[in-house]
Amino acid sequence: LIAMEGVCKSYASAGWDLDVFDEAALSIQHGERCAIVGPSGAGKSTLLHLLGLLDTPDKGRLLFNGCDISTTTSDQRAQLRNQCLGFIFQNFHLLPRLTALENVALPLFYRGLSRAAAHQRAYEQLERVGLDERMLHRPASLSGGQCQRVAIARALVGAPALILADEPTGNLDSATTEDVLHLLLQLNREEGVTLVVVTHDTGLAQRLDRCFHVQNGKVTEKPHHWDMAHG
Ligand code: ATP
Ligand code: MG
Repeated sequence: LIAMEGVCKSYASAGWDLDVFDEAALSIQHGERCAIVGPSGAGKSTLLHLLGLLDTPDKGRLLFNGCDISTTTSDQRAQLRNQCLGFIFQNFHLLPRLTALENVALPLFYRGLSRAAAHQRAYEQLERVGLDERMLHRPASLSGGQCQRVAIARALVGAPALILADEPTGNLDSATTEDVLHLLLQLNREEGVTLVVVTHDTGLAQRLDRCFHVQNGKVTEKPHHWDMAHG
């Protein structure tokens, strides 16, 4: 589904370049359940943005469904994102002026659905994450965990083949974390949705099949029972 080879990525900040990835590689097949772990600032979010076609490598190749991303225009990438991907951002990225329902419905407008059809589907997704009663609230009047669940509903609304989630349970209590994880695993089991989840939660990482560790500009895969605390 996704393959990265020799990928380099740096950010220019305050007059010098910060190299986040230097010749990093990984590959993910359809239907796999992957965790991405690593210290704060190591580049986990940057990696997820690359995999989610929100950013492009400075060097190296990124193949998405066999298509070399460097040959695509930003419009083509936006279309791929809208059709295939559900992205859950670390800081939610909800639009403050829109209600929960409108935030969740937004990706469907880009696909050309009518307002009524988009709102109906958005409502169903909010129900799924237990937030239907809050659907008319704007993000400012929702708690952090509730915003996180709105962001999850928005990622699911387009029935994506791949879900990329950046700390999707970071703001949730253990019961809600369990609900969200259950939902993601169910989508994987029943619909074959590929999952890539950035997490600091060892227990969560262990419930996925593969674990990628981001550190010192590289991505390495860890064996299944690798201990994050002592590895
Ligand atoms: P955390 O666990 O804290 O979320 P992370 O592993 O997700 O961390 P990234 O957000 O990918 O880390 O950041 C990797 C490095 O790149 C950090 O040193 C960060 O300061 C830097 N960085 C991230 N985004 C930018 C940007 N837009 N411009 C400049 N530097 C950036
Ligand atoms: Mg991050």
